[in-house]
Amino acid sequence: MSNDTTKVTTAATFTELGLITPLLARLAELEYQQPTPIQAQAIPSVLAGRDLIAGANTGSGKTATFALPMLQHLSQQRRAGKSSGSKNSKGNFVTGLILVPTRELAKQVADSIKSYAVHFNGEIKTVAVFGGVSVNIQMQALRGGTDILVATPGRLLDLISSNAIKLDKVKTLVLDEADRMLSLGFTEELTALLALTPKKKQTLLFSATFPEQVTTLTQELLNNPIEIQLQSADASTLVQRVFTVNKGEKTAVLAHLIHQEQWRQALIFVNAKHHCEHLAEKLAKRGITAAVFHGDKGQSERSRVLDGFKAGDIEVLIATDIAARGLDIEKLPVVINFNLPRSPSDYMHRIGRSGRAGEVGLAISLIDHEDYHHFTVIEKKNKIRLEREQVEGFEAAEITSDSILAVEKPMAAPEGTGKKKRKKKKSVNADIWSGYSKPE
Ligand code: AMP
Repeated sequence: MSNDTTKVTTAATFTELGLITPLLARLAELEYQQPTPIQAQAIPSVLAGRDLIAGANTGSGKTATFALPMLQHLSQQRRAGKSSGSKNSKGNFVTGLILVPTRELAKQVADSIKSYAVHFNGEIKTVAVFGGVSVNIQMQALRGGTDILVATPGRLLDLISSNAIKLDKVKTLVLDEADRMLSLGFTEELTALLALTPKKKQTLLFSATFPEQVTTLTQELLNNPIEIQLQSADASTLVQRVFTVNKGEKTAVLAHLIHQEQWRQALIFVNAKHHCEHLAEKLAKRGITAAVFHGDKGQSERSRVLDGFKAGDIEVLIATDIAARGLDIEKLPVVINFNLPRSPSDYMHRIGRSGRAGEVGLAISLIDHEDYHHFTVIEKKNKIRLEREQVEGFEAAEITSDSILAVEKPMAAPEGTGKKKRKKKKSVNADIWSGYSKPE
């Protein structure tokens, strides 16, 4: 990461956290100059073997928070000749198990761990398993066990039932994005998996939000944990803005912003798979090429699109929540909510794709009459309050409490009549980055 001035950091250095040389050397190569707040607060306790509950979003540096101590423990156990992992073991055991909600996150976490482990000279084996691809290759990869396994719950259960892996020797269990896992309906799978792990183990739980299900899980699972609660989105680096637009004008406003702001890349969220293609077609008519990413796409197509977006070849990506969860795209300048997410916690997850690891980011929500009430719910639940703004040239008809009520009943006026009713209210300057430093 190169933009040092915008990083969220604390005073501690990685050396002070107690990490060993092969990890410190790698962090220096990756240009991680200082630990992020969660790393600074959690790593010493995790290294000491404590359980952890962390309220942290993706973008906070949470992967390194569990991955670095896990690698350090494994390396030390290996040196002491105690590892039950891959190299010296006959059984299909795993020592460090990381459960994640989606295949994208599984791959991403495994890639990060492999990257952090490069100076262990291949002595630590990491495997990722997830659904949607052939199980045979994953079974082969698990032969002889693995030190670290990153898995989605459903596929892991399949692999356990075909004896490809056993959880009896898990020493560290990580539940990453626990709220996501539970909200995606993995509760039963999770319960079944947890029952297969030994009672005595270290457990680290990361969650952006703490709905009841997660709280119950933490009470059942964790033993005298340290608790760290970070702000879910860092207000100093992630700028959130909300623009009111007339019904039927969202596409025009979106195209206008994309043309005008010339973002290097933009991630646009919609609420349904078919909306992805539909919006891509409408943008194409306005001269904007966009790729789409959702659950109906095959695995190879999803990987191709994701790689293209990560490499910067794809500039505009339209995605649904399920597909874009956990994506880590370095320095994504902007996330746009074309449709509002249904759940307030999804709002935080979506906007967390920008402004990662303390870099400046921008999250824009486009709201029309029908979204207005829901957006206030999102704000309330997430304890934020944003000023309603307008895009110059696309000023929306004033939203009154009457017009909000009218949405609950059938709309009084036919679509597209908003323009005539436009009232010139306070409008924002076209340069929506004014006042903020624009990322490179
Ligand atoms: P995560 O929250 O784990 O998904 O991490 C978000 C991004 O921040 C990833 O691209 C990491 O490589 C990066 N990152 C994590 N820790 C640091 C750090 N201390 N300094 C700079 N970048 C970091």
